[in-house]
Order: sequence, then C-alpha cells, then structure tokens
Amino acid sequence: MAEKTGIWTHPSCLKHDPGPGHPEQPARLAAVLKGLSEGKLGALPRFEAPRATEADLFLVHTLDYVTELEEAFADAQEHPLALDPDTLINDASEDAAHRAAGAGLAAANAVMEGKLQNAFCAVRPPGHHAEAGHAMGFCVFNNAAIAARHLLERHHLARVAVVDFDVHHGNGTQHVAEKDARLFYASSHQYPFYPGTGSPHETDKRNVVNVPLEAMSGSKSFHHAYDKVIFPALEKFAPQFLIISAGFDAHHSDPLAQVQLREEDFGWVTQGLMKIAARHADGRIVSFLEGGYNLDALAACARVHVAALAGV
Ligand SMILES: [Zn+2]
Repeated sequence: MAEKTGIWTHPSCLKHDPGPGHPEQPARLAAVLKGLSEGKLGALPRFEAPRATEADLFLVHTLDYVTELEEAFADAQEHPLALDPDTLINDASEDAAHRAAGAGLAAANAVMEGKLQNAFCAVRPPGHHAEAGHAMGFCVFNNAAIAARHLLERHHLARVAVVDFDVHHGNGTQHVAEKDARLFYASSHQYPFYPGTGSPHETDKRNVVNVPLEAMSGSKSFHHAYDKVIFPALEKFAPQFLIISAGFDAHHSDPLAQVQLREEDFGWVTQGLMKIAARHADGRIVSFLEGGYNLDALAACARVHVAALAGV
C-alpha cells in the first residue's frame, strides 16, 4: 500500500538568505524540518526536491521575468541584491527558488501516480505573492500556481483548487486563477493588510473566493470563514486535486500579523480540506510552506498541519 504523506525539501532552501534581520530567514525552515523530524512525523519519507526547468516556470511566469531573473541570479553570485523592496537574494537563491518550485512538481507527480496520498513541500523562498512577471513579498516563483498549472496542462486534470490560509492574500496565485477557469483560488487573510489585494469585491468571479479577516478576529472568525464560505465554494467546485498554500503567520504569536489563531486551528482547517479532497479528488493534496515568522509557532503549526495530512 502507498505511504500516506511525503515531505519534499532541499538543502539549498536552507541557504537562501535575504540577509540579517529579514523575517523570512533560513532558521524558519530549520525550525520546520526539526519539528517534522520529531515523534511519528520523523518516520515520514523525505525526498530531495528536483530543480524546476524553464518549461516548468513558463507554466506561470513570463519569458521577460525568467530572463531578468537569470541575470539577477548571476549578479547575486557576487553580492546580495533586491528583486523588490522585500525580496532579497543571495548566492544560494537561484538553486533554492528552482528547488522550491520543483518540489511541488515532484510531489504532484508522486501523488498522481498513487505513490503517496498527499505531500508537504518544506521549501523557501515562499511563492504566493510572486506574479507572472515579477517577484514580490519574499516570493520569487509562484510554487503553488506552477504545481496547479502542471496538473492541468500535463496531467490533464480539469479542475485544480488552491486554498491559501496564509495570513496574507496570495495576489500572485489569484491572478493566475483569474486567467484560467480550470483553477479555483480561495484565501482567508487579514484585511486591510499587505499586499492590499483580496477584498471581497474580487470574489465575483466564479473561481475566486476571498474572505477578509479583521485584525484580532481570532479562531471563531476563521472557522466561520471556512464553514460558511470557503468549504461550500470548494465543495461546489469539486476539485480533482487540492493544493494548499500553508502559511502559519495567522498564529497569535506571529510578529507580522494579528489574526490570532491557535495551533489547533491549522489542524482543523487541514482536516476540513482533506474531507473535501477525499470526496472529489481521491484525497490528493500537495501543501506548500508559505509564511510564518515566529519560529516556535511556525514549527508547532507545521507539525499540526502535517500530522493531520499524515493522520498521525
Ligand atoms: Zn504570509
């Protein structure tokens, strides 16, 4: 019988470094991997993420952007540089970004082949703010959107959903979904807040659902958002594969945001998503690490999330 849950990561993802004092620091992934190595989670199979190819990147990103990035990555071999005010790269970022995107492709293939039920990509840089034509908000390639488009284009699925519970709105992923009716994007996020997108007015399209959460809103509003809006919309879309943008920065200890969730809320939402995936998608899920900036809370929430995926 296939194993249930696999973890994809790569050492380069620990070396990508936006520089001193940056919240999206290498220690984040070290904390997550340490958390996932303890107890029953330590027995889950781990895989080394392959590099995404140019053809993979073009599933979402433009030729101009990929070309610009090649030059920036070459310059970053000599000295760190900024792709945007928040997104800084060093000499490891080229490989890390390609591995972060490649993780999702390998994980999606393994799940489609029935080798695993689901997977967690413990990678950085994160992806959900990255637009087709530019880096943004710590994100270089849109890892989740690339995996979604890979499933549509190469596995010929008709409906793929991305659900994003990172505390920030995934503007990049939404913009990909707006241009592709085979994709569904739902996000719960603090609003008004960075990056400024994700208002309920952006929800009128059939395949985009935004549920803004007020600062200090807490668990009750989060549960309400999923029970009343996101779960029913996802159920109606009936995805054949579910991708999760798993940011843990809605936790009450997070230094960047104020949504005030608790660890168990991430287990609850994961189990709810798994039930819908079981009904429509043979349980197929690939989840990506996005944000989460308090190291202890990040590790604890990632453990709860992956334990739910693995059923341990
Ligand atoms: Zn975030």
